[in-house]
Amino acid sequence: MIDLMAVADGKRPAPVSVYRALAFLLDNGLAHRLESKNAFVVCGHAHAAGEPVVFLICEQCGEVKEATTPGLTRELTTLCASAEFRARTRVVEIAGRCANCAGG
Ligand SMILES: [Zn+2]
Ligand SMILES: [Zn+2]
Repeated sequence: MIDLMAVADGKRPAPVSVYRALAFLLDNGLAHRLESKNAFVVCGHAHAAGEPVVFLICEQCGEVKEATTPGLTRELTTLCASAEFRARTRVVEIAGRCANCAGG
């Protein structure tokens, strides 16, 4: 993330500005937090800030793919409503093997 920002700016920013930028990206759905890897990923899609996302995480090569589907939004909204739970994050992390690794 720091390297990505450095490339964008042409200079390495101070850590505090990185965290501010990160907070902005997270708040606007432009980046996501991967809890299981304690890492941040820049969003690969255009989608609404609050839209649920699924991360498909390959345990072999470490590839992370982001996916969204309207059906998931509906199901998770229903699920949270019936539990009377106000969701702050709606990120699903699925571990396994990517097509490359599973095929080998
Ligand atoms: Zn995203
Ligand atoms: Zn893989």
